Amino acid sequence: MNRAITTSAVHGGRDQFRALGVHAPPIDRSTTNPLTSLEDGTASLDAMAAGGHPQGSSVYARLHNPTVARWETAIAELEGADEAVAYGSGMAAVTAVLLAAGAVGGHVVAVRPLYGTTDHLLASGLLRCEVTWAAFDGVADAVRDDTALVVAETPANPTLRLLDLEALVAAAGDVPVLIDNTFATPVLQQPLRHGVAWSLHSATKALSGHGDVMAGVVATSTDRAGALRQVRILTGAVLDPEAAYLLHRSLPTLPLRVHAAQANAELLAGRLVEHPAVTAVHFPGLPGADPAGLVGTQMAGPGTMLAFDLVGGHDAAAGVMKSVGLITPAVSLGSTDSLIQHPAGLTHRLVSDEGRAAGGITPGMLRLSVGIEDVEDLWDDLAAALDLVTG
Ligand SMILES: *Cc1c(COP(=O)(O)O)cnc(C)c1O
Repeated sequence: MNRAITTSAVHGGRDQFRALGVHAPPIDRSTTNPLTSLEDGTASLDAMAAGGHPQGSSVYARLHNPTVARWETAIAELEGADEAVAYGSGMAAVTAVLLAAGAVGGHVVAVRPLYGTTDHLLASGLLRCEVTWAAFDGVADAVRDDTALVVAETPANPTLRLLDLEALVAAAGDVPVLIDNTFATPVLQQPLRHGVAWSLHSATKALSGHGDVMAGVVATSTDRAGALRQVRILTGAVLDPEAAYLLHRSLPTLPLRVHAAQANAELLAGRLVEHPAVTAVHFPGLPGADPAGLVGTQMAGPGTMLAFDLVGGHDAAAGVMKSVGLITPAVSLGSTDSLIQHPAGLTHRLVSDEGRAAGGITPGMLRLSVGIEDVEDLWDDLAAALDLVTG
């Protein structure tokens, strides 16, 4: 459907509401469903087992849930995708793509930095993935005939490094590309429009937006969605309908929240550059941060996340985390309130030293998820904490 993203956010996945006679998303808690006949039940079961949609009855809640399906329809519309498939967490979604792509026990090319747990899942050997870690300009050489998948993030967590998606897809050749789009949100970036095969979100973050839901979702083409649903059915990595309800309830305000937080982030990034306690600020909207000119083309704006390095290194970072008041010292991101955390000690702690170095994650780096509070209140809080660690 070709409507503006703000309209899609408000109306996506709600087409059946008038026919149902409802105004808010109904929560369907049935775990089993009465069948009109054995034949109908069998036909629907066969369709879903093959990765398709139910033919009439949902049969059983691990196979299909209408509340979840409506939110998936909305996410697909926002991402410009045929379909979206929801999971109980972002990591369940990552694992589902690895399974669906044949990357479990196979060869993967991955570009660092990645979300710490994605990095650890690939590096740990748990899924028997053979991983070639490549820089962006090394992807074409790293791809082999038997490579199942190329994995990357843009903007990357936690350094906000941007990648040119069309160049990455070209470098991957015939190998499908998975992009973790959590930081950008579909409001700012729709990777499938640039040839990416799967666009993945930890919906725990901005899509939920209020720090109270865990979920994951993958937007993709119809030909790839079937395998993702089969993985969900067979591994049981389902999203609870209550969570889907909250996610659908949060969606209309997603563009408003992203734009408000982004405006705050732009202002805070500019002020952080000037602060004597700070050596470097990582934010796609700053001069020099986006040499390829991706903000305004691939990405509709610089986003709501930033990171910065402190003159005083690790100890100064710990000091800032201890001193902030309005800003919460906590992992996660994309909430209405601002959160600050130390990647090397928390989100990227399980990444190898070598992996952190390759990804540009330093001991004195803090990552700030900017919320929608008044920006002067945020700056007062941050500046007071930074002043305390300025030598
Ligand atoms: C949080 C996060 C994940 C993992 O999502 P969960 O919902 O915590 O499982 C994956 N990728 C990125 C970029 C994240 O920030």
